[in-house]
Amino acid sequence: MGHRAGLRQLPPFRELHPEVRKALEVARCAAAPSPIYAVGGYVRDLLLGLRNVDIDLVVEGDAIAVARRVGQRLNIAVTPHPRFGTARLRLSEGITLDLATARSEQYPEPAALPEICPAPLLADLARRDFSTNAMATRIDRHRFGPLIDPLGGLEDLQRGQIRVLHDRSFIDDPTRIFRAARFEARYRFAIARDTLRLMKAAVRGRVIRNLAGPRIFTELLLIGKEPSAPLAIRRLSDRGVLAALHPNLAELPAAFGLLERMRRVLARSRSLPLLQSPSPGEAYLHAMLYPLHPRTVVAVVRRLNPPRRIAEKLVADLDACRRTARQLARAVDLRQSRMARLLDPLSPEARVVVLASLERGSKRRAVSRYLTYSWKIMPELRGKDLRHLGFPPGSLYREILAALRSAKLDGHLGTREDEVSFVRRRFARAALQD
Ligand code: ATP
Repeated sequence: MGHRAGLRQLPPFRELHPEVRKALEVARCAAAPSPIYAVGGYVRDLLLGLRNVDIDLVVEGDAIAVARRVGQRLNIAVTPHPRFGTARLRLSEGITLDLATARSEQYPEPAALPEICPAPLLADLARRDFSTNAMATRIDRHRFGPLIDPLGGLEDLQRGQIRVLHDRSFIDDPTRIFRAARFEARYRFAIARDTLRLMKAAVRGRVIRNLAGPRIFTELLLIGKEPSAPLAIRRLSDRGVLAALHPNLAELPAAFGLLERMRRVLARSRSLPLLQSPSPGEAYLHAMLYPLHPRTVVAVVRRLNPPRRIAEKLVADLDACRRTARQLARAVDLRQSRMARLLDPLSPEARVVVLASLERGSKRRAVSRYLTYSWKIMPELRGKDLRHLGFPPGSLYREILAALRSAKLDGHLGTREDEVSFVRRRFARAALQD
């Protein structure tokens, strides 16, 4: 299962991206004489031999001060978060460096945000979500130190299992239920038996109810960014987590086919230039909500309580998807110009939902062809050409250019000359009138 066969030692520095190597060395110097550690998912993925561009570093001291020194040395901006004692630096090529002060956490009440206080590294590891995410290694001069693994993370990584570190873990922080499904699906790991029991007990104990909507929303978006999102969503559904969000989400199994088709659409869209790339996180959320009654959609969105702009977009997009699906269901004319009229006004996410919602057949082919190929087709003539042809500037241009594009989309216009004669023929009167 998963990557167990590929499990390896921490790599030598020469195997790291040069940018990362340099940043680690600079961070080590900036923290000296205190030690600095790589921790969490970054260490997990080093052991799995997987690329991870989000580097988490921990110091037993003032991480923000260390981050400022790193920023100065590398001449890059630092974004500090004083409340959490953390700071972020963005290196090139999407690499981020997060520095944190080692801390322990107290949960004032279930599912609330924790109160934090500085602590030794080992306490910082013990407050983490899963054993596989609770390993560290010191950054030594030009190499990683030995693996620091007080909680059995390496063994769990070898077994391919996700295990919480204490019995209250899911009660303290129910977002871990979502995180577990995400890692389970991403690495094809199993949830350890005791951990699954604790998770189910927590869901039965209604911990999800106490969880703030935006935190759930964030977790769902993170899941949607994973190529394995449908599996993670299925697991959440099987465990009654989604039904705990809203009873009507219990109907989600009906949408599994749609989620799977969405996975294929998004996978293809990574290699094909789609008419504007959709955000995968949002696209999956759309797909989850699409089969629900509009009133239920509004209720679920209210529960998730995302930023207002996003909430409004979600509801509007889903309305537009349903409308477009109805129009498509009735459509006899499947020309590309018709597809343009149907799909151009939609958001990128709504477009992929429409595509994923179609079963195999001529309609799906027409939509797919438009989104992956035809959308690029534009007339050669521009406004200035219309002026040369004697058309007075004005709102007519928009009409002419739209007509040109439609005709071109439907294969009636090959060359620039074709376009010129089309415009002369079709809009002759308009040109003469003025
Ligand atoms: P990814 O590969 O998706 O980025 P990650 O494990 O790096 O996964 P992050 O969300 O970047 O996850 O968090 C970094 C580390 O912080 C985790 O590896 C884990 O040790 C710790 N962590 C994150 N979220 C939680 C949480 N809810 N509870 C406890 N520890 C957490």
